Amino acid sequence: MGDDRAPVCGLLEVEPLSFARPAPLADSYNDRIRPLLDAVDKLRNLNVMKEVIPLPTIVVVGDQSSGKSSVLESLAGINLPRGQGICTRVPLIMRLQDNPYADRPELYLEFNGKVVPTDEDNISVAINEATDEIAGNGKGISNAPLTLVVKKDGVPDLTMVDLPGITRVPVHGQPEDIYEQISAMIMEYIKPEESIILNVLSATVDFSTCESIRMSQMVDRTGRRTLAVVTKADKAPEGLLEKVTADDVNIGLGYVCVRNRIGDETYEEARLIEAKLFETHSLLCKIDKSIVGVPVLAQKLTQIQATIMAKCLPEIIKKINDKLNANVAELKKLPKNLSSVAEAMTAFMQILGSARESLRKILLRGEFDEYPEEKNMHCSARLVERLNEYSSELQNCPENDPRTNFLLEELGVLEEAKAIGLPNFLPRTAFLTLLQRKVKGISSKPPSFVARVWEYIEGVVIRVLMRHCENYPQLQSSTRRAASNLINKMKEKAMDRMMEIVEMENLSDYTCNPEYMLEWNSLMSQQNKFMDAINKVSEPSIIVLNGIGEVDVENLRHRKQHIQEAFDLKMRITAYWKIVLRRFVDSMALHLLFSVQNLVNSDMEKEIVGELIGPNSSGSIGRMLEEAPSVAAKRDKLNRSVKLLRDSAAEVAKIMDIISTDGDYSD
Ligand code: GDP
Ligand code: MG
Repeated sequence: MGDDRAPVCGLLEVEPLSFARPAPLADSYNDRIRPLLDAVDKLRNLNVMKEVIPLPTIVVVGDQSSGKSSVLESLAGINLPRGQGICTRVPLIMRLQDNPYADRPELYLEFNGKVVPTDEDNISVAINEATDEIAGNGKGISNAPLTLVVKKDGVPDLTMVDLPGITRVPVHGQPEDIYEQISAMIMEYIKPEESIILNVLSATVDFSTCESIRMSQMVDRTGRRTLAVVTKADKAPEGLLEKVTADDVNIGLGYVCVRNRIGDETYEEARLIEAKLFETHSLLCKIDKSIVGVPVLAQKLTQIQATIMAKCLPEIIKKINDKLNANVAELKKLPKNLSSVAEAMTAFMQILGSARESLRKILLRGEFDEYPEEKNMHCSARLVERLNEYSSELQNCPENDPRTNFLLEELGVLEEAKAIGLPNFLPRTAFLTLLQRKVKGISSKPPSFVARVWEYIEGVVIRVLMRHCENYPQLQSSTRRAASNLINKMKEKAMDRMMEIVEMENLSDYTCNPEYMLEWNSLMSQQNKFMDAINKVSEPSIIVLNGIGEVDVENLRHRKQHIQEAFDLKMRITAYWKIVLRRFVDSMALHLLFSVQNLVNSDMEKEIVGELIGPNSSGSIGRMLEEAPSVAAKRDKLNRSVKLLRDSAAEVAKIMDIISTDGDYSD
């Protein structure tokens, strides 16, 4: 700090200071801009940012000790915390408002939802205390901003955000990843296109080595929205003119060189010293007056601020309106406050009706406009998929591969079905035995299909019901219970039905389907080929039979007795089994559709009404009269937000009127 106080030759020999009101820093800025700034500041006051509408913001960045806080102090004319290491540990939003009529400056802090008034003498302490409260006592940083409002005579109308300085090496007590944390925070603020980057550079360093230059170039390569303030002009006047003229680091909005207050100077003194410095210093006086001094900086900033605001306004209006419309629509969707049982009943019946309609759409009609993106809710497609899966599971069941033990099983069964009678009759018991074995082979598949499919339907039904009573949490648990009960009943019915079907297939063999005879005839037409393979021992024993596949008849060559009957039996059961499998799928499918229809069209309503209104009901309907706290809170929040947005829209409309009657601010 010591050399900061070192007097720059002759500069402290200023004339006695007049303590008359100093010329306001922003004296010369266009008066017409004023309403615009007022309005946008009002928007800021209305907290439109909370509604995720980015407002144009000036963001102050700079390496540690580059002089960020000093620049803000110079602009505001107040003392900010200064010190070694990192003092700015939270984003500090500084709102300066010129207030020529106030007899004394008005200062307050806003953070964590509080407003804390303070004054010029205590501001530093107040900021440090607030910082500790937000970011803890240590050296850590926090993203939660602290707002400092300064209403004072002669300050420029400006809102700026001061961010922690960038530091490469953590000092003692700082988290290891302090650099990453700070860079992430800075990036978040400088990334939006609406942000103006005020890059604070110390004249004592080579600009191209500054971290803050590196970062701002990442988001604003051409420097289109970057303005540089060069501090400490008094400490390193040599080569400063060349540095700002060469512009090696792409600063699109230009440079302003300043000399901040040092030590115990008052702000008035500091400004006089600064003016004199740039007036009289042999090197500094060569720098064009349009880019030196805090007043010039103030004026540039207010003008830039006005320009970006005018530019951003149409987008802000659009965002305010979009958000407003969305909120109003959402508010409309919220349930009305119910005041009588009759009203509650009506609301309840409406919920039931609309839930039924939704279920009809997705489960029965295959319309999924209510769930365009959720594949799981496109029920007809998902049910068909499940049926197809079931069908191929049945068909590919390994126990039923016709090639395994080809004819050996049939021969064995025929052996046991021997009876006293003519030899060329096929015993029916033999056929039935084979059939029953096959049915047994697949018997675990249908129940698991029923279980799976109803589990799926349960998920869908509950999802739909919950969506329809989302505004009445009081109804949710009993509705869910009713739906589960009902689905369980339906599942049990489906299981019973399915067991019956299995049983029926087990007991008898019948079909009127002509496919059976066609298939059997075509299979039987291969009998000669088969007998040849049995008889011609010298030929290869492996043959391919259409409808069966590749089989090896080696083992059958010495079991010629009954071999023709066995072949016939095999072909009958093969032809018939196809039909049986299809019947398994078809009948399950029809039963499923039938049950789902009953569920949607009548059973569900009966069950839910029973659960909610019946003699053993849980009294949920009565509880509909008390609004759920979550809904009340949501309604409150939406109402506040809608009011806020309406006010904002009105403010913006006023600005737009001013702009259209007063000319264009965009450059
Ligand atoms: P920050 O870390 O970027 O906020 O930097 P500060 O504003 O705390 O400044 C760091 C140091 O540089 C302080 O000791 C200031 O007094 C000093 N300083 C800031 N601006 C100037 C200036 O224009 N001239 C001189 N001589 N010192 C300055
Ligand atoms: Mg600082």
